[in-house]
Amino acid sequence: MYDIIIVGAGTAGLTAAIYGRRAGKSVAIYESETYGGQIINTPEIENYPGIKNVSGYKFATDLYEQVISLGTDFIFDKIMKIEGSFEEGFKVTTELGKTNEAKTIILACGAKNRHLGLPMEERLLGRGISYCATCDGAFFKHRTVAVNGGGNTALEDAIYLSNLCEKVYLVHRRDAFRGEQALVDIVKSTSNIELVLNSTVSALKGEKKLEGITVKDTVTSGERDISVDALFVAIGQVPSNEQFTDLVNTDQAGYIIAGEDCKTNIKGIFAAGDGRTKSLRQLTTAAADGAVSAVGCCDLILHSNQA
Ligand code: NAP
Repeated sequence: MYDIIIVGAGTAGLTAAIYGRRAGKSVAIYESETYGGQIINTPEIENYPGIKNVSGYKFATDLYEQVISLGTDFIFDKIMKIEGSFEEGFKVTTELGKTNEAKTIILACGAKNRHLGLPMEERLLGRGISYCATCDGAFFKHRTVAVNGGGNTALEDAIYLSNLCEKVYLVHRRDAFRGEQALVDIVKSTSNIELVLNSTVSALKGEKKLEGITVKDTVTSGERDISVDALFVAIGQVPSNEQFTDLVNTDQAGYIIAGEDCKTNIKGIFAAGDGRTKSLRQLTTAAADGAVSAVGCCDLILHSNQA
């Protein structure tokens, strides 16, 4: 039986593994895709304390290697079910039908990209529709593209693509951006980024590949078509907690309800990172949750040993 099983190898999960292992606990971390979570697709991180500038890929890879060097068991499989209790121990069952046991659990499943929900969106995925500018931007070198969204991801994507593409339309549903002012300033001073504000993407054009988008003005309701070769959708995330909504309490949007102590309503199960209810979802807060949740597991185990 592991002391701690962590579900998800994003920044929160990997940080929890560091704290768990350094406290001398046996730790397994499960990941169904690749390590790193969302940050692996971020071109540049410039707001992590002590690191002036680093790519998301390097940050995630260094973190992963740190976790492996500390002796964490890294298991590429998806946990589908968690049963049991702190008193009796938890049993996890994976997509591959394997089982494992742990004294405590940290749910650090993060979040995935929100889709527009438009007709043709799924069909045109990989044919002009993308949710990752750093992954797919190079396919559209010297072409015209659009980015949809007004948060940090959309702003960073627009800046990144402006260095590759001839023209970038940035479509946002309001006239003020949610993202950082420093990024807004760069976007506004970049000559090949054109802002399309107070607008939503209302239709996708093209059958075999994306040929254009229709944008709807949220003030006048007027629509117009813009010819683009790609649309990078960056309209936020939805939590990846589907497997655990019957296990722990979640809010209406599916985020696991937990405070700054990362404790869920179930003793021995913690929630860390972007998948829990919180006001600020950043690399720093994900890392903080990883530390807090792992120390929470260690405290519980210590007190149960003393009892
Ligand atoms: P976000 O901050 O939630 O922003 C999502 C954007 O999409 C918002 O501007 C929102 O508009 C818009 N939006 C949401 N649903 C929409 C819909 N159905 N149709 C059209 N527009 C829609 O998401 P994010 O930019 O992916 O960032 C997620 C978190 O990661 C944030 O905390 C962000 O700060 C963080 N992050 C940080 C960095 C960094 O620090 N370097 C980089 C990337 C992300 P409204 O503004 O009108 O709500």
